[in-house]
Amino acid sequence: MATTQSLSAADIKVDQTQCFIDGKWVDAASGKTFATINPATEQEIAQVAEGDAEDVDRAAKAARKAFDSGPWRTMDARDRGRLMYKLADRIEADMEELAALETLDNGKPITESRTADLPLVIDAIRYYAGYADKIHGSTIPIRGNHLCYTRREAVGVAGQIIPWNFPMLMTAWKWGPALAAGCTIVMKPAEQTPLTCLRMAHLAQEVGIPDGVINVVPGFGPTAGAAVVKHPQIDKVAFTGEHRTAQIITRDSAETLKRLTFELGGKSPNVIFADADLDAAAHGAYVGLYLNQGQCCCAGSRLFVEKSVHEPFMEKLTALTSSRRLGNPFSPDTDQGPQIDQAQFDKILSYIDKGQAEGAECVQGGKRHGDVGYFIEPTIFDGVTDQMAIAQDEIFGPVLSVLTFDDHEEIIRRANDTFYGLAAAVWTRDISKAHDYAARVRAGTVWVNCYDVFDAAAPFGGFKMSGYGRELGEEGLKAYTESKTVTIAL
Ligand code: NAD
Repeated sequence: MATTQSLSAADIKVDQTQCFIDGKWVDAASGKTFATINPATEQEIAQVAEGDAEDVDRAAKAARKAFDSGPWRTMDARDRGRLMYKLADRIEADMEELAALETLDNGKPITESRTADLPLVIDAIRYYAGYADKIHGSTIPIRGNHLCYTRREAVGVAGQIIPWNFPMLMTAWKWGPALAAGCTIVMKPAEQTPLTCLRMAHLAQEVGIPDGVINVVPGFGPTAGAAVVKHPQIDKVAFTGEHRTAQIITRDSAETLKRLTFELGGKSPNVIFADADLDAAAHGAYVGLYLNQGQCCCAGSRLFVEKSVHEPFMEKLTALTSSRRLGNPFSPDTDQGPQIDQAQFDKILSYIDKGQAEGAECVQGGKRHGDVGYFIEPTIFDGVTDQMAIAQDEIFGPVLSVLTFDDHEEIIRRANDTFYGLAAAVWTRDISKAHDYAARVRAGTVWVNCYDVFDAAAPFGGFKMSGYGRELGEEGLKAYTESKTVTIAL
């Protein structure tokens, strides 16, 4: 493999394009395939097996058998952890190749794949590997002459459905806790980005994770995804994606009463007080919005700036934004790649039109970049008001809405004026203001004087329409377990 300094899309091997079911690489039962597209060139990368309900059924039965008869759930938990460490080591050894495959399929800059996505992937799997032999219940003093204790047991077969924005990272966040708990998995990667998840399944097989423990069925949401949600042998669904899809999943899973965890969208408020370190805050606002082409669930897309510092702050932010380099995601100098696909590209441009029609001032960007690939200029709207669509809707692209405010009480109310509640940030040197904001903002994650700090140990998830349940940390692990109470008469 060439080094990333000289990589081009043509250097990347695409090895895994079939379904992975019960330890075997198989075509979809229907024989159908679909194209996965390079968003930087709009060219097809590969044809991938198009799984549907029949493939999900095979995968669910394999996962059920692997769960019920072991050895994954029943093996010494230390050995389970050891296999997970081996998987993390294997991913680390193949880091260059995986980063390149992610960049090819998703379009994110190679530097981001290597320095952000991959390290977090490896951390998440190692973090949960360490948990495999530390899952335990407790003893409970109850009335009478009884011994009462709880056991924490694996929830069973976990259905996992992920989006395209962080394909490998979402895979690791889902596999890590499920594997540690002793669950088996039926995963449906996003149709736009199936390649790295399939490659990770190959690595899991190589390190000796037993057949049937991990099954991957690529395909589309309404067919393969819905089949995961409805399958009676799947006990839980962990979903990351849009809240509208989560609503469908809630309805579709009612019949089988699945345990559900949802990581959904956001319109996160990023608040800059006048007493903040404005250089750091401008950098935080820049990273908080533009990371991953703005395709982050927790993007700080509603930026509130205290009126008295609006002008100097905007100077700093627009200077940073104009230095942004768009282009070939395989170039190590590229800061911003293409949006994921034509649909997202069109949606983002339509929001830019809407912002202009609503009377916000487009002070930077606002157009397509180049004429091949789904590139959009980093775009800043100033003079935005709370009720504009660009202040309310998740755009999921490099479009920032800047609003101003005057005082502390006002900003708490306005920050909460959204039906989402995934993340929030505040920049201030006043510790009381920071704690007050952190306590009163209705969001699952609050960053103070920083943005986009992730760690496998820190729970992540949403309030309100941003979902329920948490990933990462101990809470993320518990979401893959059931608690059993045992009472013994003495
Ligand atoms: P999406 O909901 O359209 O698709 C996500 C996944 O769901 C895909 O694999 C898709 O095939 C599948 N799917 C679609 N319809 C389905 C159905 N009826 N039944 C079962 N599965 C179905 O979302 P998207 O556009 O791919 O991703 C973007 C969204 O994901 C944004 O809203 C973003 O904020 C959110 N997201 C959230 C987090 C988080 O951690 N909170 C992280 C990343 C992305």
